[in-house]
Amino acid sequence: MTDLPFIPVAAPVIGEREIAYVTDAVRSGWVSSIGPYIERFERDFAALCGTRHAIAVANGTVALHLAFAALGIGPGDEVIVPDLTFVATAHAALAAGATPVFADVEPDTWCLDPVAVERALGPKTRAIVPVHLYGHPADMDALGRLASAAGVALVEDAAEAHGATLGGRVVGALGRVATFSFYGNKILTTGEGGMVTTDDDALAARLRLLKDHGMRPERRYFHTELAWNYRMTNLQAALGVAQLEQAADFIAQKRRIFGWYREELGARTDLELNVERPGARNVYWMTSVVLGARAAASRDGVAAELRAAGVDNRPFFVPMSELPHLAHYRKVGRGADDCPVARRLGARGLNLPSGCGLSEPDVRRAARTLARVLDGSAGSTRPVA
Ligand SMILES: *Cc1c(COP(=O)(O)O)cnc(C)c1O
Repeated sequence: MTDLPFIPVAAPVIGEREIAYVTDAVRSGWVSSIGPYIERFERDFAALCGTRHAIAVANGTVALHLAFAALGIGPGDEVIVPDLTFVATAHAALAAGATPVFADVEPDTWCLDPVAVERALGPKTRAIVPVHLYGHPADMDALGRLASAAGVALVEDAAEAHGATLGGRVVGALGRVATFSFYGNKILTTGEGGMVTTDDDALAARLRLLKDHGMRPERRYFHTELAWNYRMTNLQAALGVAQLEQAADFIAQKRRIFGWYREELGARTDLELNVERPGARNVYWMTSVVLGARAAASRDGVAAELRAAGVDNRPFFVPMSELPHLAHYRKVGRGADDCPVARRLGARGLNLPSGCGLSEPDVRRAARTLARVLDGSAGSTRPVA
């Protein structure tokens, strides 16, 4: 163990503005899902994405379920998701009654591979669901062409990439519909919360109906189909408005944090860092490393040594096709019914401390500790100051 302060992997930055807005919301009495902060949060989030609509919901998982349901996706339908993602992407498809198909990811961006998606498309496909993993936008141009040609919906899971851009356009506006999460470790937080964005007026109306018990807007207590309560509260939205007003600062800080790591680790040949493709703006939700072959064998040992030296971290997500209850669904790679890239990344990847509250010395200490561990010279009792 170490006496140095513990560096968390993703602590939220909550300040006086958040306290003021949430206090105002509590004092106003509008504590449930009606209130001025909800309207403001939806309006300002739509402005961030450049979409006509933003619909606030309870979390990023129900945002995905709602999007699938509003698109009419259900039993008998297939939804193509990346093999490497947080499990909610697959669970939401299953919650809608659909069948997930796992497609492999690209080795550099870690996002859905269009070549694998092309192979995964079939007569039952209804949607392609790219995830902008760890803050890098997926290849939406290629995926959009595939979706249009196949006549299926392009649904962005943008839970990890608020404000990321591709060709100058912001994620959330790059498909038919997009979903976001505001969980405590995401780029913007409302504690728990989510958002669905779209330019499609009819789809927006469906999303609003289905998030609110299926009650017809024109007749109270008149419900015409099975639906849910997926609403966000005005209290959460107050937190969200305060966070959203700092979105540019948070993203700039995420990019600075990545820059410090790159200065410390970029020259090493035994790891790969996040990339930024030409034309893309990565928001680096998590600065991450993929360990080279030698260190990869002991990835979990590296993680434990880092933690013992006060540097928190997370392994990459376990690929969906390796989870016991999901392993039987179809998986498709570039050349085979398998996802070797996702498997390799899932076994070798580590997320490093990336919270916006980290200082430059914190980040440099985290990076140098990793370097020492990889060089084999870091006893767990000798952290790098
Ligand atoms: C966080 C996350 C979600 C789920 O969001 P919650 O708000 O935690 O329900 C979905 N997809 C991805 C890719 C995520 O990272």
